[in-house]
Amino acid sequence: MKKFFKEFKEFALQGNVLDLAIGVIIGAAFKDIVTSLTDNFINPILQFITAGDKIEMAEVSVYASNFITAIINFIIMALILFIMVKGINKMMSIGKKPVEVAPTTKQCPYCMSEIAIEATRCPHCTSVIEENAQDEAAV
Ligand SMILES: [Zn+2]
Repeated sequence: MKKFFKEFKEFALQGNVLDLAIGVIIGAAFKDIVTSLTDNFINPILQFITAGDKIEMAEVSVYASNFITAIINFIIMALILFIMVKGINKMMSIGKKPVEVAPTTKQCPYCMSEIAIEATRCPHCTSVIEENAQDEAAV
């Protein structure tokens, strides 16, 4: 069972799964906006055209506020998702140590040129490089 959860965690924390989930949530939230647009904007206009009803000012303000609410909901949803993703990314980066690249060059203690780490003689100034000389340079 422990292994199952470990596998699930790895699966869930994979970036593409996260992206997919976000896509689905944003899609659902966007659908609400479209529905709201239809209910509060297009339908009243159609009603006005077909039935010839006189739309009251009060009704218009209700439609407008409904539509604005839908947009605000969408923005809040997107904001929460953004904060969540930021948090998850941070959580994922905690486990990972920054990859430290082993140095392949060192500095010649005599002429300060970059030379191969295993060099015993500097190709620039031809000085013989001793191991302790390198240590001294590093201090
Ligand atoms: Zn040198």
